[in-house]
Amino acid sequence: MTPAHAEAPAPPVLVLDHLTRRYGSLIAVDDVCLRLPAGARHAVIGPNGAGKTTLLNLIAGTDRPDRGTIALNGTDITRTATAKRSRLGIARSFQQPSVISELTVLDNVVLAGWPHHPKRRGAWRSPSRYRLHEESAARHLETVGLADLAHRPAATLSHGQRRMLDLAAALAGEPRLLLLDEPAAGLTDGDIGRLLTILGGLPDSVAVILVEHHVEVVAQLATSVTVLAAGRVLVTGPTGEALAHPEVRDAYHATGAASGGEPAVAGPSPTDTRG
Ligand code: ATP
Repeated sequence: MTPAHAEAPAPPVLVLDHLTRRYGSLIAVDDVCLRLPAGARHAVIGPNGAGKTTLLNLIAGTDRPDRGTIALNGTDITRTATAKRSRLGIARSFQQPSVISELTVLDNVVLAGWPHHPKRRGAWRSPSRYRLHEESAARHLETVGLADLAHRPAATLSHGQRRMLDLAAALAGEPRLLLLDEPAAGLTDGDIGRLLTILGGLPDSVAVILVEHHVEVVAQLATSVTVLAAGRVLVTGPTGEALAHPEVRDAYHATGAASGGEPAVAGPSPTDTRG
């Protein structure tokens, strides 16, 4: 019997319940259920057109489901506007880094963190308050290894550096759930190594959902994986089991989808994600 004073277990950070999105006759996301604990490191993989980005769009709120519900930390956010979801702790990085080229690297992160900062009111006319914003932004640039480039125009950054800046901007909102859409796409091996170090160092207070074609990145970062095919969940489970699942191997062989070739079979320690 549970003692009366025992703390209630934390609600899962994210629960998707029968989530479905249709575009005309095409079902891009088909009856997807998923339950992620706080601090999850979860990857969503699958062939091109499997519905991975649509799933992220539904969670971020830039697209709406036709059926099903989304709960964040126990609160139903299915009909909640994107900006409010962001204030509730959902942050996102995009396949194409969303960086404002005309601003400095630092100001990109200041701008991204502004709506979330406790001292946001009047900061534009108070130098001391503005400095607090800059200090927060500088910390996030430090995290992604761009501190030395803080005062450079973002236009001068390489593709890999823009990706890191996009990640710093996402972290500036102090997210509880970070959605990463193909963060390793177009990166050099060196940049992928840096990305793995940065993402591997994120605190447990941040849960991560990673859409990624690089299976080796998935195997290193994710403790659990959902494999989508034609919008449906083929399998959800601990990384090693999910990647080794015979249907997953068949799906990847059929499409040649994984840039890393065959799915890796070894993964980090399992986390139960089934609801
Ligand atoms: P990729 O790995 O190529 O990025 P994906 O798994 O992210 O693919 P989605 O981009 O989610 O797949 O697309 C899933 C399906 O939904 C595809 O068939 C796509 O053409 C279709 N689709 C996505 N967005 C729309 C839209 N706005 N209107 C119509 N069809 C769409």
